[in-house]
Amino acid sequence: MAYDKPIPRQGQHNKPFWEGAKQGKLMLPHCKECNKVHWYPRLICPFCHSDQLDWIEASGEGTLYTFAVQHRLAAGNWAKELPFVTAFIDLKEGDRMQTVLRGVDPSKPEEIKIGSKVKVEFEQANDDTFIPFWRVVES
Ligand SMILES: [Zn+2]
Repeated sequence: MAYDKPIPRQGQHNKPFWEGAKQGKLMLPHCKECNKVHWYPRLICPFCHSDQLDWIEASGEGTLYTFAVQHRLAAGNWAKELPFVTAFIDLKEGDRMQTVLRGVDPSKPEEIKIGSKVKVEFEQANDDTFIPFWRVVES
C-alpha cells in the first residue's frame, strides 16, 4: 500500500538523517563541544549553542517515556488509522523523539508499559523518504 500520509520536508540541515534512514540507520545530530545528541536536527546545539555539529549512527534502541491513544483527528490520512498510539521515546544515546508507536493495541492502553524497550524501524514513504517509527519489543 502506498504511503498516503504527510511526508516531512528534507533540507541541508537534516540530509544525513534522511540518507541514513534510506539504509535503515538512525542518524542523530551530535555536538562536538558538549558531546550530547539532540533531536530534532538544528543548526546549533540546543544544550551549549555550539555550531560544531556532526552526526552519529545511533543504536536504534530506546525506552517508552510516555504515550497517548489518539481517537480523533480533524482531517488527513492519519485518520484512517484511528485509533493509534503516539509516544515519546527516550533515545539510548540521549534526548527524546516523538513517534507513532507500533506493536501495541490502542484498545488496551493498560497493557502499554512506560519504560518498555523499543526499536526503530523505517517505513518507505517515497523513493527518497523512509520515515522512522518505533516498535515495542519488550515490555
Ligand atoms: Zn553542545
